[in-house]
Amino acid sequence: MKTWQEILSESVTTFADLQKHLNCNTTALEDVIATFPMRINPYFLELIKQHGTPLWRQAVPDIKEIQDTVCLRDPLAEDKHSPVDNLVHRYPDRALILVSNSCAMYCRFCTRRRMVGRENSSINAQSLQKVYEYLRATPAIREVLLSGGDPLLLEDHTLNEILSELRQISSLEVIRIGTRVPSTLPMRITPELVAILKKYHPLFVNTHFNHPLELTEEAASACRLLADGGIPLGNHTVLLKGVNDDALTIRTLMLGLLRFRVKPYYLFQADLTCGTNHFRTSTKTGIEIMKSLIGHISGMAVPVLALDAPGGKGKIPLSPDYIINRGEKLTFFNYKGEICSYPEPVETF
Ligand SMILES: *Cc1c(COP(=O)(O)O)cnc(C)c1O
Ligand code: SF4
Repeated sequence: MKTWQEILSESVTTFADLQKHLNCNTTALEDVIATFPMRINPYFLELIKQHGTPLWRQAVPDIKEIQDTVCLRDPLAEDKHSPVDNLVHRYPDRALILVSNSCAMYCRFCTRRRMVGRENSSINAQSLQKVYEYLRATPAIREVLLSGGDPLLLEDHTLNEILSELRQISSLEVIRIGTRVPSTLPMRITPELVAILKKYHPLFVNTHFNHPLELTEEAASACRLLADGGIPLGNHTVLLKGVNDDALTIRTLMLGLLRFRVKPYYLFQADLTCGTNHFRTSTKTGIEIMKSLIGHISGMAVPVLALDAPGGKGKIPLSPDYIINRGEKLTFFNYKGEICSYPEPVETF
């Protein structure tokens, strides 16, 4: 059986390779790939061949990527909120660390495409030392999110070193790893990896599934290994036009994740990243989808719809409007659209 590294090394990364496997004849895609790197590993390539559009659009370059006119290179102003290289400190009690520059697949809608998959990475042992120093000097940070790129593209021993360094910082309570490998390269989740992760509890893993067709047998095994290792699993999904922007797809995905013991966490509006505008959906679409979930399916399967405010202003929850009137009585709609009310307590002084 091939190792995950061997599978990854057989990825499609050039236009010539792509043409051998998939029917896309616009040579203009060469320019797209030169601007935004492509990596489609054999596992995901097979899924694209089997199922087409929703997986194709996430992985295969599109000429629209180099036609964006209104967009931001760094939509969340992460560079501005970075006190030391590779650390983003936006919220008071948690910080994000970019520990890896590569991913098992380069998503065409990636918010960090300005850096992900590129050679000139500044992530190295020295810059990580600066990150640890900053965390030691900033005890208000209770939680770190390992992100990138994909932290699980690091070799086991490198990841082990980073986690061990972080665990020596006493103010850090919780470690969270954001990874897409359960969806894009599930064979990366091995018993050896889980044995490392479980040494550093409380450690959470947040995955990233965007479509029910990603919920394969292999993905199920990956999630099972992690969950059996006592690792709580969450998921974030990005709402993507022409991929998953309808109620049935999202509902099927959320219920499928719950069966995998993955708790849906965020459903994101796409960011204003350069080269990804054709994926954006209106906030109305997202809110309508939320309306079709809330009350209709298990509350555990309902994510929070969130928008990452441009300029690094933070994540804002978007919710359907249930409230009709506030007064002595709160009047509101329930999930079926019936009008209900709740008398406020009579204030006694
Ligand atoms: C999303 C994000 C977090 C985590 O936010 P939560 O709401 O706790 O999931 C932390 N830091 C940065 C920079 C982020 O973008
Ligand atoms: S896995 Fe995440 S970081 Fe990597 S390309 Fe996809 S969206 Fe970007």
